[in-house]
Amino acid sequence: MIGAGPANLALAVAIEESGALQVAENALMLEQYPDIKWQRDLLLPWARSQVSFLKDLVTLRNPRSRFSFLNYLHQQGQLDDFVNLSTFNPYRWQLSAYQQWVAESLEHVRIRFNARTERIDPRYAEDGSINGWTVTLSDGDTIGCRDLVVGTGRDVHIPEVFRDVPADRVVHSTRYASRVTRLAPTERPLRPVVIGGAQSAAEMFMALHQDIPDCEPTMIMRSVGLKNYQTSKFVNELFYPSFVDEFYNMPPETRMQVLDEMHLTNYAGLAPPFLDEIYSMLYQQKMLGRQRSTVRHMTEVVGARMDHDEVVLDLRDRKTGKIEPLRCDVVFLGTGYAPRMPAMVADLAKRVGIADINVSRRYRVDLGDSAWGAIYLQGVNEQTHGIADSLISVLAHRSQEITEDLLDRRAVAEAAVEV
Ligand SMILES: Cc1cc2nc3c(=O)[nH]c(=O)nc-3n(C[C@H](O)[C@H](O)[C@H](O)COP(=O)(O)OP(=O)(O)OC[C@H]3O[C@@H](n4cnc5c(N)ncnc54)[C@H](O)[C@@H]3O)c2cc1C
Repeated sequence: MIGAGPANLALAVAIEESGALQVAENALMLEQYPDIKWQRDLLLPWARSQVSFLKDLVTLRNPRSRFSFLNYLHQQGQLDDFVNLSTFNPYRWQLSAYQQWVAESLEHVRIRFNARTERIDPRYAEDGSINGWTVTLSDGDTIGCRDLVVGTGRDVHIPEVFRDVPADRVVHSTRYASRVTRLAPTERPLRPVVIGGAQSAAEMFMALHQDIPDCEPTMIMRSVGLKNYQTSKFVNELFYPSFVDEFYNMPPETRMQVLDEMHLTNYAGLAPPFLDEIYSMLYQQKMLGRQRSTVRHMTEVVGARMDHDEVVLDLRDRKTGKIEPLRCDVVFLGTGYAPRMPAMVADLAKRVGIADINVSRRYRVDLGDSAWGAIYLQGVNEQTHGIADSLISVLAHRSQEITEDLLDRRAVAEAAVEV
């Protein structure tokens, strides 16, 4: 398993709870960092999960599991306090600590930290079929396995327009805390610009006010204004794990339409209480005559370059078409993730001769019937498995489906050996 994020942690739990001891003891998770942290660089003290704590790594599959969020709180002596908070949406740091606890509570599946996967190579049997994989780590070490589960999250999206600006001046949200909180006070950007109109952009914009108290942040977005996520309970039923079957069985054009209609449930929006908080902050600044923050709607970045020590952004006003420069110190990108397959997976597919990556209902890449080794993909199958694919909502059930597929394939292999 590559990556010890929520997806592979949930899978490790499902494998342990399946009772397949040998599979659990042979399973290894590789994590690039020295510990487990959920959204490591946006672990802001006030940021909350957008889904119910009941959608933890196990509860929807096995409400009696010892790996539940409630059991974590119980073990930490935090249950009374959490109940008294009267919320379904825990703080992000608390869910992150829960995931670290799950990792520590595993009894059989092992985790190797500081193990960044650089490359995956297929291993071939004499008949030319794939019989396993070799994973190469950044320190040059290699690990062989029969089955591989990629749970590394999606690749970050950095718009082309920023390609000529040095990396230390263009900071994606996945590097926010590393960049800002570790800077000496004199190095902190006083004129930061945040690009984007969705949750991570808004979180960075808000956080900058606290992390750099004397800065004057600007937020730039193409859209007509910050919007709330769509939170209709009717539409939210489409995040049920049972909807994955319905979605998977739809014709491709219907899937596209459904994804399009559901876009604002997960993308391009903010949690409603958070949107109100930002609006109130700006209102107070305006009314009290202490305006330090700017939000620019309907504005597009059409150019970006360095001029001596400043970043210069060319901003096009969508209302007038007029282009004018904005000088700043650092650009923070809340531009999200690339919808395509991660580069590591796309590269592997090319090398094993797959033009289109097709993933079965149980998340296994189609490598042809003769393949002995398998590769499963977690969190990158939105086009075929629905908008909840990158979210926590479906993890408990998805883990069970992958575990069942792994065990079924082993049963077939064992039966073949017996014959
Ligand atoms: C700011 C933010 C907030 C979010 N909030 C929510 C929310 O409230 N609710 C929700 O359901 N979803 C939320 N999401 C969506 C998020 O994708 C999921 O919650 C969840 O993190 C997906 O889990 P994952 O394991 O697939 O991927 P990730 O969480 O991205 O975990 C991937 C893991 O793999 C490791 N890794 C990556 N590459 C390598 C490599 N080459 N070698 C070794 N290890 C590697 C990473 O270090 C990481 O530990 C949020 C996303 C963001 C960006």
